[in-house]
Amino acid sequence: MEVVFSSSQELSPAAKVKDVAGGTSFVSWAGLAAEGLFATLFPSDCRLCGAPLIKISRLPVCEDCLQAMRPIAGGVCSTCGEGLVSPSAFSGDHNEPLCGLCRRMAPPFAKAAAYGSYDGGLRELIHLLKYEHVRTASNVLGRMLAEVIAGLKPAFGDVPLLVVPVPLHPSKMRQRGFNQADLIACAALKLKPAGDQLTFNASVLERRRDTQSQTGLSSHQRRENIRGAFGVATPKEVEGREILLVDDVFTTGTTVSECARILRRAGATRVWVATVARTLKTNAQYAVPNQDDEARLAMAAHG
Ligand SMILES: [Zn+2]
Ligand SMILES: [Zn+2]
Repeated sequence: MEVVFSSSQELSPAAKVKDVAGGTSFVSWAGLAAEGLFATLFPSDCRLCGAPLIKISRLPVCEDCLQAMRPIAGGVCSTCGEGLVSPSAFSGDHNEPLCGLCRRMAPPFAKAAAYGSYDGGLRELIHLLKYEHVRTASNVLGRMLAEVIAGLKPAFGDVPLLVVPVPLHPSKMRQRGFNQADLIACAALKLKPAGDQLTFNASVLERRRDTQSQTGLSSHQRRENIRGAFGVATPKEVEGREILLVDDVFTTGTTVSECARILRRAGATRVWVATVARTLKTNAQYAVPNQDDEARLAMAAHG
């Protein structure tokens, strides 16, 4: 059941909770009111900074923390969204800025875009959804994703697109109870960021093999880890179609590149990638120099 963190606000559709089994249950008004009363008497603190929550919200995150989650500022690669620091990236024959890696070899996706840098509050907000199961976080993350999709829309043209979330392995799905990419994509699509061009389809891709976290793996290990992990369940739906692949985070790009590669192999004409967050190498804190480049180049070479 969804938890109300402060007194009950107007009920949004998010009060309708999809349970693990895929059924839909409705949180009772009485239950919400009772929880709201409880939360009013014992208000919770912001789960990100610990400040007392003074504003009524079903998300236990304060306004200051939400405001601090800003879109990526500065130049980014027009293809993969990587942060660019070198002025040379903007010069030369290219009309649009490209990172060194995309200059050397085009990735399997047409363009990847993200809302914010995967650090600070945005990282914590995504963790709140994924690991602490605060589902109301998906509404805020969905708004961010909607902005990303709206930004990509000029590149889409008028072509209808299939919106495909990066799937979880069934065992992880059972364990977590939901796929965060599904929740975020659905929250974004409610806002109609590209009119009626987008059709959600979560059954196109399937995760056939569970993979260990990519964190801390070398480029070679990441490549081995992801190989054969995904499959196209319904190739007929993909053939000749443009796909908008959605995930919460673009970290090394290994996952979305593999998904894009197999979608293209199944006949998709173009694959776009929209994520809420992205690891930026320009953020030294989370930088993994060179390894990502090697991973993608090697994957492309083998793809
Ligand atoms: Zn806060
Ligand atoms: Zn790039």
